[in-house]
Amino acid sequence: MNKERRYERQIVLPEIGKKGQERISGASVLCVGAGGLGCPSLLYLTAAGVGRIGIIDFDTVDETNLQRQVLFTVDQIGQNKAEAAKERLSALNPEVDIQTYPEELTDQNAQTLFDNYDIIIDGTDNFVSKFLINDAAIKAGKPFIYGSILGFDGQLAVFNYEGGPCYRCLFPEAPKGHVPNCAEAGVIGAVAGMIGTAQAMEAIKIIVSHESLQPLSGKLWAVDMHSMESRLLSLPKNPDCPVCSKAKEDIALQYSSPVCGAIPEITAQQARSNKTALLIDVRETEEWDAEHIKGAQHIALSRLMQGYTPDLPTDCKIILYCQKGKRGQQAAQLLKEHGYLNISNMAGGYEAWCTCA
Ligand SMILES: [Zn+2]
Repeated sequence: MNKERRYERQIVLPEIGKKGQERISGASVLCVGAGGLGCPSLLYLTAAGVGRIGIIDFDTVDETNLQRQVLFTVDQIGQNKAEAAKERLSALNPEVDIQTYPEELTDQNAQTLFDNYDIIIDGTDNFVSKFLINDAAIKAGKPFIYGSILGFDGQLAVFNYEGGPCYRCLFPEAPKGHVPNCAEAGVIGAVAGMIGTAQAMEAIKIIVSHESLQPLSGKLWAVDMHSMESRLLSLPKNPDCPVCSKAKEDIALQYSSPVCGAIPEITAQQARSNKTALLIDVRETEEWDAEHIKGAQHIALSRLMQGYTPDLPTDCKIILYCQKGKRGQQAAQLLKEHGYLNISNMAGGYEAWCTCA
């Protein structure tokens, strides 16, 4: 296929031209999540001819995704989203080098992945992943394009661009308490389409880097599609930001999977040798009164289940334990919803602790 002809309609623009098109084909973009935001974003970036595109998503296509995740078809249900997206995108533009990572983005792989791309697109729907993307993008020195959707509301911003503010300048910590996601609160597909498309637009603006194109850095675009009323909020850099005010090497990546049941486990032996972690006993009062680990705090699982929000330190590792290890998992899930991310469950619980002394 004739390259010039394929991209003719954008090359003709004075802001793009042949030079801009060369920049587009020389650029690389990593999209974290091929969901409601990732699908439209990937579609336009591939169509525009971005040279190399990475897609990371561990999830599989589900029937309930089809309402907004427009890359997928009915016969792809059950397939990994990154792989399924690649099929569709390669058919659209075989010139684009598409790399797939059918895995979860974690504190272990984020750094290496981000080092390999120029721009990161956030197609995730939870605070834990957005914080990880932000922190890893700062460490790697890459801009990240944030998108958020819920119901009829959409938000867009470019973070960590040429010394501009980061996501943590806006939200230093995950909000305490439960924040609904799209699965719980619902979302209109077209809202995802508009924000995802706008994310692709911001990526292209950064890549082309024409003086007339101003990436949405230091600003947050918020739109309410009930009325199409939108606001452009000014977003100053926070000089005391817990992440971007630090030296890159001092930023420690943190991640605890928001996927249910995926609370990291540590052995009783590891818990014993960790002298700085906070141990929390989640058993019931009579069990705690009978015997417990010296120095531990007591927060019974039943209290957490009744909605009790504890005030725990966020700057140290939290290790939960119960009698045998099962209730600790449940408690960890509840604490995670309150924004405590640096959390592990002790496998085997108090019984394992006693036997490994
Ligand atoms: Zn910041």
